[in-house]
Amino acid sequence: MMPRKSKEHAKSVSEELEKEYENMLDQGLEEPALSVSYELEDLEGVGRITADKLRKAGFYSLKDIAYASAHELAEVLGSEDRALAIIRSAQRLIGGGKMFMTAKEVYERRQKIAYISTGVKALDALLEGGIETGAITEFIGEFGAGKTQICHQLAVMVQLPKESGGLGAKALYVDAEGTFRPERIAQIAQHRGVDPESVLSNVIYARAYNSDHQMLIVDEAKKLIEKENVKLLIVDSLISHFRSEYPGRENLAARQQKLNRHISQLLRLASLYDIAIVVTNQVLAAPDVFFGNPLRPAGGNIMAHGCTYRIWLRKGKEGKRIARIIDSPKHAEKEAAFQIAEEGVIDL
Ligand code: ATP
Ligand code: MG
Repeated sequence: MMPRKSKEHAKSVSEELEKEYENMLDQGLEEPALSVSYELEDLEGVGRITADKLRKAGFYSLKDIAYASAHELAEVLGSEDRALAIIRSAQRLIGGGKMFMTAKEVYERRQKIAYISTGVKALDALLEGGIETGAITEFIGEFGAGKTQICHQLAVMVQLPKESGGLGAKALYVDAEGTFRPERIAQIAQHRGVDPESVLSNVIYARAYNSDHQMLIVDEAKKLIEKENVKLLIVDSLISHFRSEYPGRENLAARQQKLNRHISQLLRLASLYDIAIVVTNQVLAAPDVFFGNPLRPAGGNIMAHGCTYRIWLRKGKEGKRIARIIDSPKHAEKEAAFQIAEEGVIDL
């Protein structure tokens, strides 16, 4: 039972708010916003010129600043001390930046994570609920394994209401390989009993022409995630441009460095805006493996460490597909089977 004191307190607070609201209405002001939203200019020591500089460099909101590293912000501001002061100011304003918390608090935070159903019961069971928000889920597999098909299906699933496994939100589809097919989205929508036309208008599409462009798109995405209620960002495939632009051993270090930047860009989006991120990855044959599976995911350790959940897809007999979770922090290594059909990705 709620103690009497806090009940009274709540009552007086709500009366206060009501009074304030009436006053505002009297003055012809709009309804007060539920949460305070700050501009970059509200930060200590940030004027209009600095704020513009920050925006140009891709820092649009207080959250972007609060979670930036002093090092990268210093590139814009000139000094690391100044960067640190501004980061602290942003952390104070948004009330974040808490350094220590109890396991219970971590647990409570994790309870808030939402899941997007894949539309395949076996896959949802494998993933213990579906695609998680605030994390990167990676689908790995050979050509024709079903990576792009799953991406198309997820772009539909995220739009469904909560009771049907979605989040009632939009998808942002970054297509690096030119394999996005709106017809397929419409087909899957139809099968799920939702209006194909409205589903199509809730998939925001961007074609990435090279790795720089791909990173620019992700940077720009920040501007529309909250405004457009995007809850799923798809990058199909994450790695193809990086691989083709930086071929061979001599370019490997440069490629991995850039890939690292791209993945941290994505991780930051996932945790700042609580969206689910789904990426696809190719496999390559390791020339030095003589026993066991010679295939391994592209992108090396940087991909392995950056992606929270990794699912390996392979082709089975008679059009069957098998998904296997590899090195997950919370799942046991298990498998699930599904198939690709006219209706989309479905259970066997
Ligand atoms: P890649 O590495 O080449 O991009 P991928 O893993 O993205 O491969 P997908 O394009 O997702 O592969 O899967 C292609 C498979 O999906 C094909 O084998 C095809 O059989 C199946 N497929 C695609 N469209 C349909 C459809 N309308 N009906 C049934 N099966 C389909
Ligand atoms: Mg594909």
